[in-house]
Amino acid sequence: MESFRKLGIIQPIVDAIKEAKFIKPSEIQEKAIPLVVAGKDVIAGSATGSGKTLVFGSCIIQHCENRKGIQSLVLVPTRELAEQVARSLRDFSKYKHLHIPAVYGGVGIQPQIKDLHFADVVVGTPGRILDHMQRGTIDLTKVKILVLDEADRMFEMGFIEDVERIISQCPGNRQTLLFSATITEEVSRISRRHMKDPIEVEAEKQVDPSKLVQAYYDTPDNIKFSLLVHLLKHEKAGLVMVFCNTRISVDFVANNLGYNGIKAQAIHGGFSQAKRTSVMDRFHKQEVFVLVCSDVASRGLDIKGVSHVYNYDIPKDSKQYIHRIGRTARAGKEGKAINILAHRDHDNFSAVLRDNHVTITKEQLPQVERAVVKWLPNRRGSGSRFGSRGRFGDNRYGGSRSGNRAGSDERSQSETGNYGKRSKYGDERPQHSSRPIRRFSW
Ligand code: AMP
Repeated sequence: MESFRKLGIIQPIVDAIKEAKFIKPSEIQEKAIPLVVAGKDVIAGSATGSGKTLVFGSCIIQHCENRKGIQSLVLVPTRELAEQVARSLRDFSKYKHLHIPAVYGGVGIQPQIKDLHFADVVVGTPGRILDHMQRGTIDLTKVKILVLDEADRMFEMGFIEDVERIISQCPGNRQTLLFSATITEEVSRISRRHMKDPIEVEAEKQVDPSKLVQAYYDTPDNIKFSLLVHLLKHEKAGLVMVFCNTRISVDFVANNLGYNGIKAQAIHGGFSQAKRTSVMDRFHKQEVFVLVCSDVASRGLDIKGVSHVYNYDIPKDSKQYIHRIGRTARAGKEGKAINILAHRDHDNFSAVLRDNHVTITKEQLPQVERAVVKWLPNRRGSGSRFGSRGRFGDNRYGGSRSGNRAGSDERSQSETGNYGKRSKYGDERPQHSSRPIRRFSW
C-alpha cells in the first residue's frame, strides 16, 4: 500500500484500496494522482479500464467533506457510466462517508431531488444535470472539483453545449479534471476555455496487445448470422459481447440467438433505464453470458470476464472499434475480438484497418450449419416478432425501408447502418417461410 500512499493518497482511501485488493497503482494513477491531489488542472488521456476513477476519486474524496453541499460534480456521457462511477466513488470513500448520488435521465426526478439535498458529490449525465439546474434543484455554487469524464464521448454525443452551460454555473476558482480516450479538437477547445494551465498526462493503452487476438471472417451475406451462431456455440468463452451498429440489428441478433438456443440479452439506447440497468446487472452477475449491444455499452463500462468481443457489424470508424475491443483482454486477461464481415461491412473494415494499423488475422470459414432466423424487424424499425408460422409475405420488412430509423442511443449518437433502399440485402431467410421474401442481409 506504500506505493499508493507515496502518491499522496490519504489513509481512509488507502484502506479502501487495500480492501479492493489493488496491489500497485496503474500507469495513469502513478502519473496523475500526485498532480490532482495537489490541486492542478489535469487533462488525462486515458480510457476506462486504466484506473482513472481512482485518479479523480482520490482527489474528490480527499478534498470533500460530509454535509458541506455539492463540492464536486462528475459529468459522464451515459447512465450506465454514471452508476458505475458513483459506485466506485462510494467504494473508495467508504471510510469517509460521502453521499454520492448518480443523477441521470430516464428515471423519476423526485428521488433525485431528495438525494441532491444531501449530496456531497454528484455524478451525472449532462442532460439531467441541466434539467435540475433549470428546476433550481441542484446547487453548484460550492463545487470545487469538476470532472469531465469520457469527454470525447460526451462531445461526440452532442452534449458540448450542455456541458458548457453546466461549467458556466460552477465557481471559477474550481479545479477541473478532464479524462478522454482521445484528445479531439472539441476537447482541446473546452480545455483552453475552461481549464487553468492544465497539465497533460497520458497512459499507454490498457488493452495489452499481446493478450488480445484479433480475427476476421469474410462471409457471404447469407451466412453472416449463421457464422455468429456457429462461433458462439464452438468457441470456448466466458462473457461475450456482440456489437451491432443499429438498434434494429441488436434486436435482430438477440432475438434470433434465442431461437438458436443461445441465451442472449439485448441492450441499446431504445430501452428504458430500468431495463438497461437490469440487463447490465444480469450480465455483471453472469446470469447471462451473451450481451448483444449497440455502442452505448462499448464505452466506459468495466465488465469483468469478457473473453470475446464480436463485431457483428463493423463500426464505421477506428475509434469505435478500439472502444469495443477494449471491453476484453483487460487487467492481464486474454481476450479475442472477432469481426464478421459481410459485403456491407467492407468499407467500414477498410477504414478500421487504415486508421489503426492493427493486425487482424483472416480466419478460414468453418463449415457452418444454417441457423434459424425467425425474427425480423418491421418496417418502422421497431421490433416485431414473426413467429414460426411466419408472416413474411405481408412485406412488412420489404424494400420500402429507407433511411436509418434506428433512432439513437442517449442523444445524438447514431447507430448507423446500411438501410439503403435495396443495396446490400443478401438472403438469410427466415425458416418456416414458404413464401418468397425479399433479399435481406443480416
Ligand atoms: P476505471 O478505469 O476507473 O474504470 O477502472 C477499471 C478497473 O480497474 C476497475 O474495475 C477498477 O476496480 C480496477 N482498478 C483500478 N485501479 C486499479 C489498480 N491499481 N490495480 C488493480 N485494479 C485497478
